[in-house]
Amino acid sequence: MTYIKAILVTHDQSIGFTGHVKEDANLSTMTLPAWVSELEDKPAPMPLLLVQSFVNTLDRDNETDRLASDDDARAWLIEAGLLEAPAAARTSTDGLNLARQVRESIRALIGQGQAEAAELGLAELGPAELGPLNTLLALAQPPLDVTPDGQVRLCSGPADRLADALVILLLIIRDAQADGSWERLKLCSNPDCRWAFYDRSHSRRGQWCDMATCGNKIKNRNLRARRAHAQDPGK
Ligand SMILES: [Zn+2]
Repeated sequence: MTYIKAILVTHDQSIGFTGHVKEDANLSTMTLPAWVSELEDKPAPMPLLLVQSFVNTLDRDNETDRLASDDDARAWLIEAGLLEAPAAARTSTDGLNLARQVRESIRALIGQGQAEAAELGLAELGPAELGPLNTLLALAQPPLDVTPDGQVRLCSGPADRLADALVILLLIIRDAQADGSWERLKLCSNPDCRWAFYDRSHSRRGQWCDMATCGNKIKNRNLRARRAHAQDPGK
């Protein structure tokens, strides 16, 4: 498939993960689609934006979850262009629970990908994280097309089964790992936040979803801890 290097610059909700290529998109003027959190200010390029937005459907800071109820989860999957509406209607609570578990597995996967994983306390993936992904892989049929000119690519358009819709996210991750963009998708270093953000900084050393909130909060907390320790080293 063609890698989509820049962000969507449209609010057209009919656009799914195939997106539009807009190489010269200006980030400051872009409009993000409705399936992206309105709080997203460090969006990944398409199609990695889908993975980021899926993880960020859970906002721990504001205690909101766009997948909380089954109907909300179905609506988000349709809106994001991952799942056809009739398939969403057929999807059971068990299936949607798997989707919610896969979301946390992918969050852990993002944390593992970042250089500071160990120092951020992002432990190696274990059965709790890998289990839902293995369940998903056993259920899904990879939604791939082989074109007449011999290209193997992701099918365009939404899937007609939930497992196939979720496996699209894993295929997007695989492509991002191959092209290097995966390394820029990170979790916020605030353990109470863990928002997924795309680090566009030149140094690639961004640590926070937002410096003004999480960055300063944790820096002040660390500073207080160091001062307390300096006053009473026995603590
Ligand atoms: Zn944060």
